[in-house]
Formats: sequence, structure tokens, C-alpha cells
Amino acid sequence: MLIVMDAAASAEDVRRVVETVQKLGLSAHPIPGAQRTAIGITGNRGAVEAAAFENLPGVAEVIPVSAPYKLVSREAKRENTVVSVGGVPVGGPRLAVVAGPCAIESEGQAIETGARVREAGATLYRGGAFKPRTSPYSFQGLGEEGLRILDKVKKETGLPTVTEVMDTETADLVAEHADCLQVGARNMQNFSLLRRLGRIRKPVLLKRGMSATIEELLLSAEYLLAEGNYDVILCERGVRTFADHTRNTLDLSAVPYVQRISHLPILVDPSHGTGKRQKVTPLSRAAVAVGADGLLIEVHPHPEQALSDGPQALLPEMFAELMKQVRQLAPVMGRTA
Ligand code: PEP
Ligand code: MN
Repeated sequence: MLIVMDAAASAEDVRRVVETVQKLGLSAHPIPGAQRTAIGITGNRGAVEAAAFENLPGVAEVIPVSAPYKLVSREAKRENTVVSVGGVPVGGPRLAVVAGPCAIESEGQAIETGARVREAGATLYRGGAFKPRTSPYSFQGLGEEGLRILDKVKKETGLPTVTEVMDTETADLVAEHADCLQVGARNMQNFSLLRRLGRIRKPVLLKRGMSATIEELLLSAEYLLAEGNYDVILCERGVRTFADHTRNTLDLSAVPYVQRISHLPILVDPSHGTGKRQKVTPLSRAAVAVGADGLLIEVHPHPEQALSDGPQALLPEMFAELMKQVRQLAPVMGRTA
């Protein structure tokens, strides 16, 4: 259930509603909007009696929420959420471009890539320190050393950073270093990890699982919001299908679909979505045209030597060309890049 407050409701009115919810043994989640505050109620097993709230001062409307997700829905918050990642807005008029290597392999590789993507116009830097690899014999990332290098890249380039957090054990450690915590496709439904990140309160970039429906993606996001973390960025990165001409099938229709039902920003990752360097720029153009809030792009100065995801990594000069095209396209969508 959602309680929508009157535009003129006072902080005291909101507090009274929250208290009433809590007295019923439920959790209240006030979501301040531009015009008015909505208060989401979670923790109920069945329907909540609207009468308990309807007549409280400042309450405009009590809306039963039929969809399984509540806090992520547009019913809870009409206007788009803009997440600040180290001061860089994701979800606003400027497209967010998150770029960098799949994995941080060395200080030289990480910093060189950072400098090149920044120069080309990336707004955030990404690089994996803890890598989820299909084979236990593949490079697993530099771990803590990788996080220290990530700090250096931020210092050198000034770009806020995104890196993957794989488990609850390392969540605090990763959060000490990165501005935004990526939950990878393989972990999208790791509910204990999601709950943990919901409590850490750092922005989270939540990637769609490789066989997850949009409803499942939104319910995973709901875990984060239900714990109190509203700084959630969604990411479409392709799903597994019968098609084998690309690594995954990039589901661009997810973007307008998500935007209709959720206020959360959504990025597109054509690198993992296609797995092929030559396909990354065309699908980036398509992602901007479909209305994505930004892109996630893997870049490597020497892809043939990359320790992970080399075939999909763009050379820095290819990334610069991609940015040039994105800058030309963005105004068509009322955006800048
Ligand atoms: C990554 O971003 O490098 C990654 C492993 O992505 P995904 O979780 O989408 O496979
Ligand atoms: Mn990768």
C-alpha cells in the first residue's frame, strides 16, 4: 500500500503516518517527491486496512498497490530518480557513461584506460577488482590490490568509480573504496547480498540477471529500497537466448518498459550485451535512441592481452568515436552527453 501525502502536509503529518504504520508492526518508507511525499508500506502479509490512515491529517490518498513491487514503482514516485554517484548525476538530462576495463589488471593499465576514457567524455570509471568468472581457473581479479588501484584512478582522473561487489564478506571493504557498487548479473538474486547493500547506503548499479524477467529485476531492486537504499541504478546487459551470433541478446525493449513502471534510472551495457567489439557502438546508438539514461562500456588499451572480456573491449580510440556519435545523438532525445 502507498500513502500519498497532500502537497501541503507538514513534516509532523508525515511523522504521524510513519508512527501509525510502525504501531501496526509494519515498515514505513517515506519517499519525498518534488510535489509531495509518498509513504510506502512493507512487511504486510495481506491487505492493509486503508481506514487506519485515510483520516490522518495531511493524507491525500491511500492507494492499494497491485504490482508485487512497491517502492521502485511510479505509483510510489512519479518523477524520475536521479542518483548521485560521487557527485555525478545518473538519470538526469546528461547521459551517464560508465567506462573502463572489465578487470583492473595493473596500475598502468587501469590509469591509462581511465585517462583515455575521461578525455573522451566518460562520466564515471568502472573496473573490476573482484571478478565473477565462469571458470575457477580464470583470472579472478586483483582483489584488495585492485581496489587500491581504483582509488588511484579516481585521484588521477577525478572520475567517481564503479566496481563489482561479489559477496557480503567483502561488501564493506568494497564500499570503502568505490562510489558505486555493481551487483553483477550472476548475483542479481543474491538476496542476502542485496539486503546488505541496502543497508550500506552507497549507490548500487544492479545488472539484470542473464535469465531474469523485468519483474524479477525490479523485485531485486525492491530489496535494496526496502532496506532504505534509494540510490539504485538498473542496467540491461543482455539475456541468454537461442541466438548465438552475439554473447547475449541485448533486450533494448527493457528500457521503455522499465521507465514506464519504475522511477529508477536504467543504463544499457552493450559490451556484455553483444560480447563483440564491432557491435558495441551500433548498440550504444540504439540504447541512446531508445531512451536509456546512459551506457556501460568496456575499454582496454590492449584488448588482445586483456585478462577478461577482451573480445568485447573497445580500444580507447573506438570509445572516443562512440562518444562523438553519442554526443550527436543525445540532443534528439533531449539529452546531453
Ligand atoms: C562486468 O560488468 O564485467 C560483468 C561481469 O558483467 P555481468 O555481471 O553483466 O556479466
Ligand atoms: Mn566484463
